Amino acid sequence: MTIGILLEMAQGERRVALVPASCASLIKAGHSIIIQSGAGAEAGFPDDAYVQVGAQVAARAEVLAQAACIAHVAVPTTAEIGEYPKGTSVITLVYPKRNPDTLAALAQAGVSVFAMDAMPRTTRAQNMDVLSSQNNLAGYKAVVVGANAVGRIFPLMMTAAGTVTPVKMLIYGAGVAGLQAIATAKRLGARVEVTDIRPETKEQVESLGAKFIWVEGLENVRIEGGYVAGVTDEILQKQKEAVEKSLFAADVVITTALVAGGKAPTLITAEQVSKMKFGSVIVDMATDAGGNCESSQHDTQVTVGGVTIIGGGNLAATVPTHASELYGKNVVNFLAHIAKPDGISFDTEDEIIKATLVVHNGEVKV
Ligand code: NAD
Repeated sequence: MTIGILLEMAQGERRVALVPASCASLIKAGHSIIIQSGAGAEAGFPDDAYVQVGAQVAARAEVLAQAACIAHVAVPTTAEIGEYPKGTSVITLVYPKRNPDTLAALAQAGVSVFAMDAMPRTTRAQNMDVLSSQNNLAGYKAVVVGANAVGRIFPLMMTAAGTVTPVKMLIYGAGVAGLQAIATAKRLGARVEVTDIRPETKEQVESLGAKFIWVEGLENVRIEGGYVAGVTDEILQKQKEAVEKSLFAADVVITTALVAGGKAPTLITAEQVSKMKFGSVIVDMATDAGGNCESSQHDTQVTVGGVTIIGGGNLAATVPTHASELYGKNVVNFLAHIAKPDGISFDTEDEIIKATLVVHNGEVKV
């Protein structure tokens, strides 16, 4: 099968869907790769590196004409959807719950779409799980962004000129991104406190050396498939009260809280921001799902009453080399599941296909 890679057109997207090493694996498996010239450059992979592994470098129109399947990263833009030839399979991030219009346009274009972000969180699909691979890197980068914006260093430092106390960090959400943020902040020497409403995260947080803020009644939160499925307003109110002391004392706050692909919960109100320490920093990683902080704006930095609020944006795209390497491996593993050398073939009853095939035969399936 001919697999195409295009230069990503979404603003700020620097990743490429397949790096040369991933192309080599696919070529070994019997596929051919055609890549638009320059598609890997922003991620650190020049055309030559693709040619060396046996991929064909071509103009964009040629890639679109030849590829039966396009490996893509960002949610396709209107312009990109307009280019896809009918019948093409597109493997990409889509965030189906948040982007119904994109899905409708893809259905109208007559392509089949596999949403990499809709991968089931099962052991079998673990090596295809782009949310894990990308959010892990984004969690790391959020700490670096926070460290860069705050006027303090992270570790305790005793010097002849006096002692510098460690940064106090508060993290909302201990999923993949939050756990990596904890580990990164600890390595830098911060004192880290964490809140989550999945009770099992307490142990994971503590094993990384951070303090978990327990909320009475947390053991009653309903979890389905690893995600929060039901939480009462009472528990959310108790959580708000329990974390306030830490929030108002924090130098850096990172928010990562999401609820199964839907709108992110509001966890920091504008009123709470007004009570935060002058000079503190919030990095809101959930802004593409509406944000966890009332005052944050997607991909934008604002300052409110001395508090810098950074709307995280697409943080994985800011570490495009590693992000593309991991994304590419996820795509290779997914293709091993659905692609034969002569084309895509799948069982519609397979749990991975059921979850990821979001557009097929002109229909939106979710
Ligand atoms: P996510 O990105 O959907 O959410 C991030 C975190 O926000 C979660 O820990 C969630 O509990 C938390 N959160 C939600 N509401 C909150 C609130 N009001 N306050 C504070 N925190 C809040 O989560 P994720 O990182 O994608 O992980 C989701 C689940 O999937 C977890 O159970 C994780 O262990 C599991 N997982 C499984 C696999 C696998 O088996 N293949 C891989 C990765 C993750």
